[in-house]
Amino acid sequence: MRLVLLGPPGAGKGTLAAFLNKELNIPHVSTGDILREEMKNNTPLGQEVKKYVESGGLVPDEVVIKLIENKFSSDSAIDKGYMLDGFPRTEVQAKNLDAILNNLNKQVDYAVYLNASLPVVIERLTGRRICRNCSAIFHMKNNPPKEEGICNECGGEVYQRPDDNEETIKTRMDVYLENTKPVIDYYEAQEKLKKVDADKDSQEVQENLMKIFNGGR
Ligand code: AMP
Repeated sequence: MRLVLLGPPGAGKGTLAAFLNKELNIPHVSTGDILREEMKNNTPLGQEVKKYVESGGLVPDEVVIKLIENKFSSDSAIDKGYMLDGFPRTEVQAKNLDAILNNLNKQVDYAVYLNASLPVVIERLTGRRICRNCSAIFHMKNNPPKEEGICNECGGEVYQRPDDNEETIKTRMDVYLENTKPVIDYYEAQEKLKKVDADKDSQEVQENLMKIFNGGR
């Protein structure tokens, strides 16, 4: 299956992607993860994008489009399908993605829209913690690591993303509303949009989505 995951930051795209990765065995491609890795390794690309990522703004379209183009043309793992998370975030990115995928004959099957509200997003993101090593996701209230600061899955260091603070979350939500809403309309017009209520907990979201996939709604 070839999927695009859409929704505001904190809607649960990463958690859903981890579930679908196990359930459907399709690779997860997250532009946010790729950019953070570049920043961690202090590459020229990492240095270029740091100021955008840390402030909650968007990295310029041409930079992320190139990144996705390279990923799709070089990674044979995506032959079995893919889940794109965090891309496309603008209409320009959506149109360029279609052009790239048409060339490769790997068009998107569905765009899954995780619809979550601002209070829920703030609660989730301010409590979110992530494993630096395996990207497992925790929440300080709902799902804390068994041992503070240590990942249950792999023993890696659990950290808080610097952009998961309330002020930057609000900026990211504004940026999302302005830029990503047109992307939702774009997939709706293509009749590929599958909408899920993402204020619900992750298990309910997963069950609802699997019902949609199985019923073809
Ligand atoms: P995420 O992990 O998806 O929340 O992304 C973290 C940050 O990376 C965003 O706030 C943006 O600064 C940047 N980013 C990730 N994906 C994109 C994209 N498709 N277009 C522009 N910026 C992006």
